[in-house]
Amino acid sequence: MDAIVEDHKFKCLYCPRTFAKAQSLGGHTSKAHPGSSTVYSEKMKMRDAREEHRAIHNKAKNMLEKMDPELFQLGNKDHRYVKMLAIIKEDLFLEKSQKRVLRK
Ligand SMILES: [Zn+2]
Repeated sequence: MDAIVEDHKFKCLYCPRTFAKAQSLGGHTSKAHPGSSTVYSEKMKMRDAREEHRAIHNKAKNMLEKMDPELFQLGNKDHRYVKMLAIIKEDLFLEKSQKRVLRK
C-alpha cells in the first residue's frame, strides 16, 4: 500500500490532484475550477439528505416509543411496528417539506 495515496483520499473531480481533507478539496475546487463545483455541492446535498433521513428515523422511533411502548418493545420484527414507524416517518417528511415550501 502506498502511504501517500492513503493520506490523500479526497480526489479532485476535475483534475488529478488529491487532498487529505475534505475542506482542502472544497477550497481547491472552488478556486481552481470555479463554476464547476455543482457536482461537489450535489454531493453535499445528498449527504445532508441522508443525515435528515437518519434524524427523521430517530425522531420517529422516539415518537413511537411514547405513543405505544408495548409495540415499540416488539421492535422491527413485528410488522405493525414497521408499519407504524413508516407512517410516522411519512408524516415527519411531509411536515418538513411543507415547512420548506412555506419558507420560500
Ligand atoms: Zn482540481
